[in-house]
Order: sequence, then structure tokens, then C-alpha cells
Amino acid sequence: MSIGTSAASGEAIPQTHGFAIEVEGLRKTYGSLVAVDGISFRVQEREIFGILGPNGAGKTTTVEILEGLRQADSGRAVVAGIDVRKEPQRVKGLIGVQLQASAFFDFLNLVELLDMFAALYQRQVDARALLRRVDLEEKASSRVKTLSGGQKQRFSIATALVNEPRVLFLDEPTTGLDPQARRNLWELAQGIRQDGRTIVLTTHYMDEAETLCDRVAVMDHGKIIALDPPSALVSNLLAKGFRRRTVEREANLEDVFLDLTGHELREA
Ligand code: ATP
Repeated sequence: MSIGTSAASGEAIPQTHGFAIEVEGLRKTYGSLVAVDGISFRVQEREIFGILGPNGAGKTTTVEILEGLRQADSGRAVVAGIDVRKEPQRVKGLIGVQLQASAFFDFLNLVELLDMFAALYQRQVDARALLRRVDLEEKASSRVKTLSGGQKQRFSIATALVNEPRVLFLDEPTTGLDPQARRNLWELAQGIRQDGRTIVLTTHYMDEAETLCDRVAVMDHGKIIALDPPSALVSNLLAKGFRRRTVEREANLEDVFLDLTGHELREA
């Protein structure tokens, strides 16, 4: 499924000038707490862009402003060519947000849920094709509660794709997954980018960011303290003279785990 040349709604496609997201001077406070402190960045179309940072750094607040779920105090955010403050509803039609699977109704099967999500966008979807896209076609008649953790995450991505979004937001998509399921989800994210979509990803896993992201923004205390491709960030650190104290091991426990249990997905 690739991005079409015209929006299903019949509206003209907004001009993006090659940027899926443009943020300028974005700021958000909660009382005296400055959660997002005047940040600026741009995400290119078809980029996988990571937002990293310790707990409380301001990642969720930033992403939720971009999704039109929270209002910034000041600054400007343009997503898929639309000013989020001026037209939050229009932005919501152009983005996909991965929800936590536990929130899904348990009395509907996967096909019925996708049809329901599509109806919210006044669209019709080929639910089976969408399930095939996320490698869940054989679970079409199953309920979400019967899915494994990895399958739930893939299904939640399928729901976020029903409106053929130009920008997909993934919030810690592999938390709690086994190594095989994590790798499977990385491949899915790469495939979605191949379809022509832009992905914004928050994660606490540095290996995930290094594998998936073209560029990452590192946030701390509401500010972006670094923004570069992962390889450039590592080179910069080495150029400053950083050396690991211990000699790098040639294998780690994850390598042992994958060697013992294989790369095949384990899903009932
Ligand atoms: P995590 O990695 O834990 O998800 P985060 O980087 O996503 O953290 P945010 O959730 O954006 O961080 O929070 C940034 C700061 O704003 C934190 O200090 C948090 O306690 C505070 N905060 C977030 N939402 C609210 C709110 N609705 N009301 C008050 N303070 C909030």
C-alpha cells in the first residue's frame, strides 16, 4: 500500500516542501514546569526520525502537540503541510497514531476492528490486505486478547494505517517484546517507510534507534541537546576522545538468545 497522489477525501494535498514536520520555537509549560522549552526541528519526508531522552524529558508532550492532542503555549508546528494549531482536525486525518492494543474492544475480531477504525475516517479499507501488510492475515477472525505481545503491536500499527497516513507516530513500539518480535517490528517499520510514509518514533532502546532511525533528536529538560544521524552522534563522541572502559565484547546475551532460539517469530 503506497501513498496515493490525492487524498481520499478529495481535498488537495497540502504542500510540504519536502518536510513532513516543521517545528519552530515550540514551548509548553505545566504551571511553573517547562516541559518543552522552545524547540525547533524538521523531519524530512520518508525519514524515520527518533526522539530519545530520559523520563520526563518532554518527548510525549512534543509528540502529542504534533498529533494535535495538546496545545503548545507558543511556537509553531506544521505536520504534513498543515499548521497543527490552526487545523488540528485536518492534521489528525493525515497522521497515524499507534494506540496501545489493550484499549481495543474485545467483542470484535481484527477485521471488524479495522472496518470500525476506517469508518471513523469515513473510509473503506481492505482489512485483509492491511492484516497481510502487518503479517496477521491468519488472525483475521481472532480477538485482540488472544494475540501475542508482538502481534498486538503489529495490529495497533495496522489500525494506525487505515487512513493511509503520511506521518506515522510510534510510541515505544517494542517495549516488552522478545528479541525476535522486536526485529520483526523493525522490519515492518522499514517497510512502512518504503511505502513512502514518514515515521516518528520514541524509544528508550538505543539499539532500536541506531538500527531504525535516519536521525535522532536527543531531548533533556525540554530542550533538544543533539540532533543528527546516530552514526554522526557516535563519531562526534569518539572525536571528543571518548573510549569505552571495557573492551567491546564480540557477542552479548542477546546474540546468545538469538543463537539458541533462532530468528523465527514465535507466535501461537
Ligand atoms: P517518559 O519517557 O517518561 O514518557 P517524556 O520525555 O515523554 O517522559 P513528558 O511526558 O513529555 O516526558 O513529560 C515532561 C514533563 O512534563 C515531566 O516533568 C512531566 O511530569 C510533565 N507533565 C507531562 N504531562 C503533564 C501534565 N498533564 N500535567 C502536568 N505535568 C505534566
